[in-house]
Amino acid sequence: MTDADLLARHRAVLPDWLALYYTEPIEIVRAQGRHVTDAQGRTYLDFFAGILTNAIGYDVAEISDAIRAQLDTGVLHTSTLYLIRKQVELAEQIAELSGIADAKVFFTNSGTEANETALMLATQYRRSNQVLALRNSYHGRAFGTVGVTGNRGWSASALSPVKVSYVHGGYRYRGPFAGYSDADYVAACADDLRDVLATTTSGDVAALIAEPIQGVGGFATPPDGLFAAFKEILDEHGILLISDEVQTGWGRTGEHFWGIEAHGVTADVMTFAKGIGNGLAIGGVIARGEIMDCLRANSISTFGGNPVATAGAKATLDYLLDNDLQGNAAKLGEHLLSGLRDIGDAHGVVGDVRGKGLMIGVELVEPGGTTPSPHAATTVLEETKARGLLVGKGGLHNNVIRLAPPMTLTREEADEALGILGAAVAVAEGEHS
Ligand code: PMP
Repeated sequence: MTDADLLARHRAVLPDWLALYYTEPIEIVRAQGRHVTDAQGRTYLDFFAGILTNAIGYDVAEISDAIRAQLDTGVLHTSTLYLIRKQVELAEQIAELSGIADAKVFFTNSGTEANETALMLATQYRRSNQVLALRNSYHGRAFGTVGVTGNRGWSASALSPVKVSYVHGGYRYRGPFAGYSDADYVAACADDLRDVLATTTSGDVAALIAEPIQGVGGFATPPDGLFAAFKEILDEHGILLISDEVQTGWGRTGEHFWGIEAHGVTADVMTFAKGIGNGLAIGGVIARGEIMDCLRANSISTFGGNPVATAGAKATLDYLLDNDLQGNAAKLGEHLLSGLRDIGDAHGVVGDVRGKGLMIGVELVEPGGTTPSPHAATTVLEETKARGLLVGKGGLHNNVIRLAPPMTLTREEADEALGILGAAVAVAEGEHS
């Protein structure tokens, strides 16, 4: 049972466009490890961790201690007009990890703000407001970022100041290149990029912004090497590559620390947010120094990189690295992918299982074909919840189940989730027969 009064008050005073999960939305009041408890006292295994905001999990002593130590100083924040030790230390660590030469880091409070900053840097640096983005993308909910968000269901305004051309390359289960081999898909997308550049832009484009694996777009995973093929073309024109690592960063994809690394290239600019705060509001931009410093006026972020957020993020990053959570994501990701493929083989309602590490999408279709089934996805969402598992939903057709548990996941928890997902998928399939 949802707290009906709270839900009514929420609906009355918060915007209609603030999406809520479940016919009976839940209020999470306690959390520990990979588990959350709602106001009715029901505990769930969290396989979405608040849309990947809790990279490590809930109530991690090392992180809480670091935040508490900062609170104990009495300085929650003053401003970026003064030196902030943890901000400098975290920036040094992130710059080093980025692989970007002469990297500088700017901290923000969200992924949207990080991408807005990246777009401003790229357009200033290149003196052009033309940008390329992938179809089916999501980059944020502010004025510039809605423009580069190709997924119309999540792009709230068409009045963005950026001039955007969309290219293929994110989502390959459907569309003109569906069914292509990896090599043919990469070649077709590269041809499309050349064509879009030649026919819809004046050539002096500022940047291509892309998620290495599309998050909101349903964990759509392009073949390795796609962005290498893109980068070659971009380099011919001096166009920057902005890798939006808001969901793919910090080792979540298992085999690499940054999603873009799977393609063997380094981005000119990367943006991050979500998991690195392990629940605290922090995001940021990493860019080559000459790009970061192309702005010619003073700027400030009142709260970006504040002492509490950077203390928490630094502790999160240290924990991630010290405990090889990237390795755990690789190992358990493989285990989950293979278990989900088995479920898919047994149920026609599963059209596609894809992803890397602990970022796995299950696309649901009408059995016997590839017609998207948003209804089946809703059933799986509700049925997993009823069995004590929280998962995410997404995709252009709202028919993809998204799995992104904290990276401290155990094998037992992975198996528990597979059991619940198998049962929920069976219910969804039953409704279609
Ligand atoms: N980029 C990507 C890839 C995202 O998934 C999101 C959030 N879903 C954002 C940017 C925006 O981040 P935020 O919600 O923190 O503004």
